[in-house]
Parts: sequence; structure tokens; C-alpha cells
Amino acid sequence: MTQIRILPDSLVNRIAAGEVVERPSSVVKELVENSLDAGATRISIELVNGGRSLIRVTDNGCGMDADDALIALERHATSKIASPADLDRIATLGFRGEALPSIAAVSRFELLTAADPAEGGVRITVEGGRVLGTEAAARARGTTVEIRDLFFNVPARRKFLRAPETELRHASETVWGAALSRPDVAFILRHGNRTSIDAPPAADLSERLRALWSKAEKITRFSAAGGGADVEGLIAPGSGRGRPSMIFLVNGRSVRDRLLVGAVLRVLRAAGAGFGGARVVVSLRLPPDLVDVNVHPAKTEVRFARGGSIFALVERALREGVAASQGRVSVSRLDDGDAMVTEPTSGGYGELLRSRREAGAPPLFAHPAYGEPTPGVAEPVVLGAPSAPRSGAKAGASDTPFGRLIGQYRSSFLLLEDDYGLVIVDQHVAHERVLYDQILARLAGEIAPSQRLLEPILVEVGEASAGAMERVAATLLKVGIEADVFGPDTVRMSALPPELGAEETRELVIELLDRATAFDGVPERVAEEVEEELAAGLSCRGAIKVNHRLTDTEQRALLDDLAETSNPYRCPHGRPIILRLSQEEMERRLGRR
Ligand code: ADP
Ligand code: MG
Repeated sequence: MTQIRILPDSLVNRIAAGEVVERPSSVVKELVENSLDAGATRISIELVNGGRSLIRVTDNGCGMDADDALIALERHATSKIASPADLDRIATLGFRGEALPSIAAVSRFELLTAADPAEGGVRITVEGGRVLGTEAAARARGTTVEIRDLFFNVPARRKFLRAPETELRHASETVWGAALSRPDVAFILRHGNRTSIDAPPAADLSERLRALWSKAEKITRFSAAGGGADVEGLIAPGSGRGRPSMIFLVNGRSVRDRLLVGAVLRVLRAAGAGFGGARVVVSLRLPPDLVDVNVHPAKTEVRFARGGSIFALVERALREGVAASQGRVSVSRLDDGDAMVTEPTSGGYGELLRSRREAGAPPLFAHPAYGEPTPGVAEPVVLGAPSAPRSGAKAGASDTPFGRLIGQYRSSFLLLEDDYGLVIVDQHVAHERVLYDQILARLAGEIAPSQRLLEPILVEVGEASAGAMERVAATLLKVGIEADVFGPDTVRMSALPPELGAEETRELVIELLDRATAFDGVPERVAEEVEEELAAGLSCRGAIKVNHRLTDTEQRALLDDLAETSNPYRCPHGRPIILRLSQEEMERRLGRR
């Protein structure tokens, strides 16, 4: 007979460790956050062997007395929350009281701390969650936490740790994030006997960046606001090679968010090769009720109430930053005046469709997908409220799902007219939506069409990435990329998807493997990440670009395909595909009414 048991604390802590402690960088993150919460003005981080052998974080914060130090190692011990109401106004970085016991459960752990040096400090030693000893020890006010042999008692997790350089890269991104979110605090990061970050206290973000980034680097600032959110950021173009480094702050908290990563990758990709190795910092401020930070135990993920508009805002700001850093003045856009662009929620376009249907009018769009605006499916951006034209101007008969095709504008946009005005379709984003839907369908189904290469292509990807190949191979195959491990640091591509050439596929595979290594140890998350990245990467790379002439037949085929997608009005990231300029708006602006 099955018996229900309450798990002993030691086991619970090891399970929690799985959520909180993924790799050395997650330990660094938790400890640095504790130091910040303790009011430290100087935090030093030392790593040996990428943090696999040693992680030591020293601060000059408030410290703990001997009793508190012991309590701090208990599960759900926190000084930061006392009542349920506190949960709604969390101002500290930590609050779950899980980090210290979780880390101590999977390492050889030492806590040395003093609140009042006159009373002396305490040293507590823990191994695999068992307290080995407590002794008096002298220390200036503050705390030092030392972690040796992370995962020594969890071989399965230890196996997932990557090469020291990879672990160091993740840890230093974490320290960067903290250093940027708190310019007023001094940060030092040492690896072995090399100092890689030495940031004295700074007055603001830009002063801090000057200390962190080499002076030779050209840094461009960008910013934008909209929908109640503010975005501010910096970009340094980088060497032209390698993976971009990105740091995101949401209300001052350093986070890792796939929506934001997606927005940045997308802009950099579109900007072309010159932005390899770029460094991007994006700081987002928005009202607390529009963002939920309490979704992930390690708190690196956030959830936005209006993801689509955040994505679009970050994308817009960064695109202007990129343009400025290339010395281009960005083109002033139609939607610069926020008031002009209305995204109909109720009352707008959807309302129009409904009222037309109720009045027995024929549907605006022939395709069944347009008969009924499904809830949650966005509608086109409409410039000026659509309403029936009063002038004698009449639209030609509709010959595509979106109206009568007028033609292609500047080899980049498709222009159409319908009863309500002018319809402008962004061909790149439209095609991206088409491909994205097709690729997701493929991922859900059987094996995709692909073209076999006569001669396989060998790609050097580094050891860590090659190690991740096994985990992404099946997913790749579903979209038509056949690839396997060919040597310790090399993978072999033997077949390509129909949309992509060899070079593009190579880039995609490299990016994907890199992404997969960043989520070691949590297979479901790897799979999910990889599928989304794959669909986004493949559709963006495979989609026709702007400045690409399309024949009349191709234009019509694209519109037909677009009509079949799950949401023809928004790209997978929330960017609009279709812009409508109503006849009324046009006439009003031309002084006809
Ligand atoms: P949380 O940060 O969620 O409260 P932790 O397990 O990270 O949980 O820490 C438990 C408690 O230990 C904290 O609430 C805090 O009171 C204390 N603590 C941890 N690290 C430090 C530090 N560096 N300086 C002072 N107090 C600390
Ligand atoms: Mg904490």
C-alpha cells in the first residue's frame, strides 16, 4: 500500500535546490542579491574553475549575529517578509528564504558573518545540508559566503555543468547585471587570479558603463516610451563576430526574459553582420502591476501583462539606437504621434466587423478566418477610425483576402484598397508570420521536407555547444535540419530546410546550440526554448526581406498565405503586419472634410 509521507527538510532542500541552483551563476546571483538586500556598498565575487571549485561572495552589509545566522540556513527563513501584505510590496531582491538552505544542500558551504564586530562573528560550516560546526570567528561587519564543490553530492547535476569558460561567462553576465542595476555599489569579480570586473561606486548608469566598457568602445544611448512603460538602453556595436551579450533590467532588477532576448536578437539580425559581439543593455521601467516578478523561483524570469507592446517598444527603441550608432538618422514614422495610431480593442475594427455582420453585410474579407475576430487575436493597426467614405471615391472589387491589390510599394510593402481605405502590408513581417506558423506546425508533426547535401558541412561550435547537440537534434530534424556530433567540438550538417541556405542554417544551428547550453539541466525548458528560438530564427531568416521585388503572383500568394495564419495582424513577437489608413482619415488630412 502506498503511504503518504512528509519529506524530511534535507530532501526538500535538495529539491528546492533544483529550482534555485542551476549552475554557478545562479549561486552568484542569489548571494549578490542577499548582499544588496543587506545594504552592502561593496561586493566582491571570487570564482575558481568557473565557480565549479569555489564561489566566494564577500560584502560589507549589515551581517548577522550568531542566532540569526543559524536561522538563515533554515528553509523559509527570511527577514524580508512578515505578513501576507508584504508580498504585494516586495522591495528586496530576495524574499522566499530558500536560497541559503538550497545552496548549502548541494555544496560544501561556509558562512562567516558579523553584525557587530565588538560582539564577534560566527562561522558556520555545512556539508550537503548538514551543519558540521559553529564557531566564533572575528570579522568586520558584513558577510562572506563560500561555496566549494557545487553539486558534489548531486552527480547528475554536476555532469550538466559546462566548461569553466562557459560557466564564467554566465556568472560574469550575472555580475554585470547586478553592477548595472546598482551603479552606487562597488563590484569586483575575480576569476582565479584575474580581475575581470572592477567597478568603483558610480553616480549613474552611464558612469558605471564607462568604468565597465573600454573607453575605445562607441556607446550609443537609446530610449523610448509608450503604453505606460519607459525603455532606456545602450548599445556598443562590438567586433562584428560572436554572440551578442545582453543585459536586461526590469524596474532595476536584472532579469533574463525570452521576450526581451527575442526583441534584441531580431533587431540585431536585421541590422546585419556588423553587430556580432554587440553588447546591449536594456533597462525597462513600468508600473509594478504590469509585470510579475514572482513567477520563477530564481526570479530571473518576469511576466509582462502586455508582452506584445513591450516587445514592440524595446524593438523600436533599439532599432533607433542601432540606426544612430551607424550614423543614420532614423526615418520619422507614421506612428510617431501616439494618438494617431489606434489599436482597436473594442469599438475599433472588431466592432466594425461585428456591426457589419449583424447588419447582414457581406464580410469584409472573403476568408473565413476574418468573419469573426477571435478574442485574443489582435487586429490591424488602424490610422483614423474606419468608417464608410462619404466622398464619391469607391474601392475596386476585392481580389485578395485583404482587398484589391494595388501593387508593391518600394519593393517592400504591399498596398491594397478596400471599402474603408488603404491597406498597407509589411511583406517581411507578413512572410515571417506565414513561416512561423508553418514551422510550428511542423514541430508539432512529423519530419519536415529537407534537402540533403551532397557533401556534409562541418561546423566548429566549441565543446559546450557540441555537447548540447544531442538534446536539440530531434527538434532540428523536425524542421528539416539534419545534424549530429562529429567530434569533440564539431557538428556535421547533412541536410538543410527548404527555406534556408547553408550559411543561414549554420548560423541558426550555432545560435541554437548556444541557447541550449544556457538552459542546462532542465530538459523541458531546453526543448521549449529551442523550439521557439528555432521557429523565430528560421522564420526571420527565411522570410523575404524588404527591398525585394515580388511579382504580382507572388504578392497574391503571400496575401493568401497570410490569410491562412493564426493571426495575420501581428508577427509572433507582437509587431503589427498590417497598417490601415481609413478613407476618412485621408480625406480629413487632405482638407476634404
Ligand atoms: P531570502 O533572501 O529570500 O530572505 P535567503 O535564504 O537568501 O532568503 O536568506 C535568508 C536570510 O538570511 C535573509 O532574509 C537575510 O536575513 C539573511 N541573509 C542572507 N544573506 C545575507 C547577507 N549577505 N547579509 C546579511 N544577511 C543575510
Ligand atoms: Mg536571498
